[in-house]
Amino acid sequence: MASDTKAEETLAKRLLDGDRRALARAISLVENRDPAGDELVAELFPETGRARIVGITGPPGVGKSTLIGALTKELREAERTVGVLSIDPSSPFTRGAVLGDRIRLSDHFLDDGVFIRSMASRGALGGLAEAALQAALLMDAAGKDDVLLETVGVGQGEIDVVDHADTIVLALMPGSGDSIQALKAGVMEIPDIIVVNKADHPLADTMMREVRAVLTLGPQRSWRVPVVRTEAANGEGITKLIETIGEHRAHIEEEGTLEERRARNLRAEVLGIATARMRRELETRAEKDPEWAALLASVTRRETDPATAARKLLESSLDD
Ligand code: GDP
Repeated sequence: MASDTKAEETLAKRLLDGDRRALARAISLVENRDPAGDELVAELFPETGRARIVGITGPPGVGKSTLIGALTKELREAERTVGVLSIDPSSPFTRGAVLGDRIRLSDHFLDDGVFIRSMASRGALGGLAEAALQAALLMDAAGKDDVLLETVGVGQGEIDVVDHADTIVLALMPGSGDSIQALKAGVMEIPDIIVVNKADHPLADTMMREVRAVLTLGPQRSWRVPVVRTEAANGEGITKLIETIGEHRAHIEEEGTLEERRARNLRAEVLGIATARMRRELETRAEKDPEWAALLASVTRRETDPATAARKLLESSLDD
């Protein structure tokens, strides 16, 4: 409808002008899978690619939210605008509450230069992860200099939100031997920067040594993964962390890998979104389409084997 289009145009314009309510509304549209959200992202996409996107990942409780609060404070002092997107894996019911409880939001509440949003990840269907990627693009279009994406763990979903980042920071804390084992075993991918938070802990030195030892085992690349010690709760080490993020960014720009990384990320995004949508479509049709139901029933009766049935389903769905 013409009036709707007009309203969306205005929304796009307000968002580009940095209006935070417009950004909040736009993110709700993509979160609710409203087609108007997709249209808005399509319209704004040419305006993206300017923000520095930093993924902050790590096990629960290491202090990611506290780190993000401290980073936001310092980035604001450096007059950079900040968008924070926290992907909360725990439950859809805590949506919106998580960051509010954990970051001292009151510090940034009245600051137009900060935009914070928390989303639940519903996992299997990739729906929310997809919305998160679109939300990050919207923050970028809205002119945020830095977009911080907080996630627990890496490589768990169809669409990995950290696949969207230019720089990936893994946060760990002293006394977590599990993390060292996971790094050693290659379960946790080696990020661009490792933070050992809670440096006030008596085992902080040991943890620093262990992390460095694991890094010497990994492949030697042109970027040597730095290990930064922080005490997020008191803002210690945050300046150093921001410097290190800047150095990593400069390194990938000089080396030409920023462009490569972004091309790879966008490719992963396209395939990820396509996969998630395809899966949703297949599941809906398996429930609703009588022909599909009949085919699935024949598998149950062991008349058709699963691979043959899957091939038939894919063929019929690609034909449509
Ligand atoms: P997240 O689950 O990784 O986001 O972790 P949070 O940011 O919620 O922090 C978990 C707990 O660790 C909170 O109680 C924080 O106050 C605490 N914490 C964060 N940073 C530090 C730190 O540098 N030192 C100490 N001792 N505690 C910290």
